[in-house]
Amino acid sequence: MKKYNFNAGPSVLPDVALENAAKAIIDFNGTGLSILSISHRTKEFEAVLAEAKSLFRELLHIPENYHIYFVGGGASTQFFHIPANFLAKKAGYVNTGVWTKKAIKEAKLYGEVEVVASSEDKNFSYVPKGYTIPADLDYLYICSNNTIYGTEIKEDIDSPVPLIADMSSDILSRPVDVSKYAVIYGGAQKNLAPAGVTFVIIRDDMLEKVARTLPTMMNVKTHVENDSMFNTPPVFPIYVMNETLKWLKSISGVEEIYRRNVAKAELLYNEIDRNSLFRPTTAKEDRSLMNICFVMSEGNEDLAPEFMEFAKARGMVGIKGHRLVGGFRASCYNACPYEAVEALVACMQEFEALKTK
Ligand SMILES: *Cc1c(COP(=O)(O)O)cnc(C)c1O
Repeated sequence: MKKYNFNAGPSVLPDVALENAAKAIIDFNGTGLSILSISHRTKEFEAVLAEAKSLFRELLHIPENYHIYFVGGGASTQFFHIPANFLAKKAGYVNTGVWTKKAIKEAKLYGEVEVVASSEDKNFSYVPKGYTIPADLDYLYICSNNTIYGTEIKEDIDSPVPLIADMSSDILSRPVDVSKYAVIYGGAQKNLAPAGVTFVIIRDDMLEKVARTLPTMMNVKTHVENDSMFNTPPVFPIYVMNETLKWLKSISGVEEIYRRNVAKAELLYNEIDRNSLFRPTTAKEDRSLMNICFVMSEGNEDLAPEFMEFAKARGMVGIKGHRLVGGFRASCYNACPYEAVEALVACMQEFEALKTK
């Protein structure tokens, strides 16, 4: 049976990236060696790294005064790398869910944290707006897409202090004005690669703001100055990321993928709104394009396990909602085809017909 992959992460990748990765595991670029067993210092791998950086810059329109590097450790490592490097006295955090809560906890190890806005009062079902950003913060920290709750900060905030964003789950899914940010980072396993590589995009002036003496691997300067090669970088995830970036370029880049992502999200949200058995869990204007959350409508709650089985039998994979929200979550990342969302919508319609006849 055809499977439709809605996993939240690690998640769906373009077929062509997987095919090329499969080949490269046996014979990487005609070297006669596997990508899994070559030195990261070979000119062949250095070319992959350079191409990945250059495609990232091109696709996201990253200005010249920004550096890009790739490291291990996941986004969760950045939760403490960011404050270790940049929290001298006080940082501001916008609390929009689990991932910012975790980041706040780490930041408190390094200095004062002011939660400038939060949507915790309504189980993070919306994005806080209209708050004031104090001018005395070392930085303002946001998570642009809340993978678990399905909300997304869609505007590039005008911040009087350096703006730092975790874009793990919406990187390269929509146009972003990078010049509004001081640092953008994320784990690549949602939209770009298998787990194991983290991307960091950092404005040049931030390198002069490192607030304390740090272990070498924690200092952002180490990774910029050594061009992601201070230690062994995650070779294979970087290879696959490069293949994903090449695919994204081949389909005309971020502007085109954004158009496709909007089309997929509209199709599914329209069905959630229309279908009498389901309801959305997020404020309409803040709905994520990537992680689409929904639950059974009032009075139909106990149909949830049955719908799960029904959908599973029709090839849907990974649609169980996070335990903090319940219900369902369809993660419709870049490589998720329109056809997968159509199949899920058809499934919801069939289930409704079955239950309401
Ligand atoms: C998945 C995710 C993380 C955690 O990433 P790891 O690489 O597992 O540490 C952090 N932030 C967001 C927004 C995520 O979606």
